Amino acid sequence: MEQKDIIIIGAGPAGLSAAIYTARGGASTLVLGCNPKVAGEYVIDNYFGFPKPITGKELIQRGIEQAKKFGAEIKCEKVLSIHFSNQNTFLVKTETNQYESKAIILATGVTRVRPGIDNLKDYEGKGVSYCVSCDGFFYKNKKVAVLGEGVFAANQALELTEYTKQITIFTQGKKPSFSQEFAKKLESFKIPVRKDKIISLKGNKGLEQIVLENGDIEPLDGLFIAMGEASSLDFAYTLGLTRKGVFIEADFEQKTNIPGVFAAGDCVGRFLQISVAVGEGAIAGKSALNYIKTLTKS
Ligand SMILES: Cc1cc2nc3c(=O)[nH]c(=O)nc-3n(C[C@H](O)[C@H](O)[C@H](O)COP(=O)(O)OP(=O)(O)OC[C@H]3O[C@@H](n4cnc5c(N)ncnc54)[C@H](O)[C@@H]3O)c2cc1C
Repeated sequence: MEQKDIIIIGAGPAGLSAAIYTARGGASTLVLGCNPKVAGEYVIDNYFGFPKPITGKELIQRGIEQAKKFGAEIKCEKVLSIHFSNQNTFLVKTETNQYESKAIILATGVTRVRPGIDNLKDYEGKGVSYCVSCDGFFYKNKKVAVLGEGVFAANQALELTEYTKQITIFTQGKKPSFSQEFAKKLESFKIPVRKDKIISLKGNKGLEQIVLENGDIEPLDGLFIAMGEASSLDFAYTLGLTRKGVFIEADFEQKTNIPGVFAAGDCVGRFLQISVAVGEGAIAGKSALNYIKTLTKS
């Protein structure tokens, strides 16, 4: 397995800025992320130092070049999960690879994928979960479903096979976008994939039934939400990071409550602007460098 000092999740302004600091500071740095939304033909009019507006695409391209110049490696790979290893390091799984690092910087931006289930909130912690490695255990031999259409959902469903055989994936009306490898794995575990939309949940003390758009009502004990790609929130659930609503809590050094995990940019939810993301990325990079130095001393 490839090992790095620091893995940065996200190749937007926050992640690239962090990479410039960590790579320039001598840490082996891997950035995992693809083109951020802002990297289009949008004109950025308010970023310091560009009196003539620059496009988001060019700004990001320049950031990539600069991070690479200092030795950062940048790969367009979607991260599916982050777990602790027994060696006090982090194991990062993507659609195609696994990596190990001493520190993690989360710079994933914000996610806006909503499942569109009316009363989802009422059942959070009472049958609705966002984290298989946290809650899968409570559903031993029970009937569960994963909500999502992509590799992230497929991976969550496969993790659930440790606990139960009664697993279904609901894509919420979307076309499944699993890679061939994951589609084959789902088949081998006999996990059905259904396009039906779940519109509401039922149950007195906790989740007991799901109501589908076609009016059908079906029994269900547990529903795991994994829409779109894994977000900083999903990583927060697994790693036990404190959150404020949909954002990750980080202090003025961009440290989260878990040693070795830092967060920067939109996923922290302060002022959602490039300048702030770049500034927080720099601080997160410096803090991560300081953190790995303390590991070598001890
Ligand atoms: C169209 C548009 C125009 C904007 N215009 C302006 C403007 O003019 N001025 C301004 O200051 N701000 C603007 N913003 C806001 C600004 O773009 C954001 O505040 C900024 O990009 C946040 O940077 P970030 O690095 O935190 O997150 P993002 O830029 O959102 O980057 C997130 C990164 O994380 C990656 N990622 C997410 N999940 C995963 C995963 N599971 N695995 C791997 N990678 C993952 C993504 O691929 C991406 O690389 C605009 C935003 C948009 C969308």
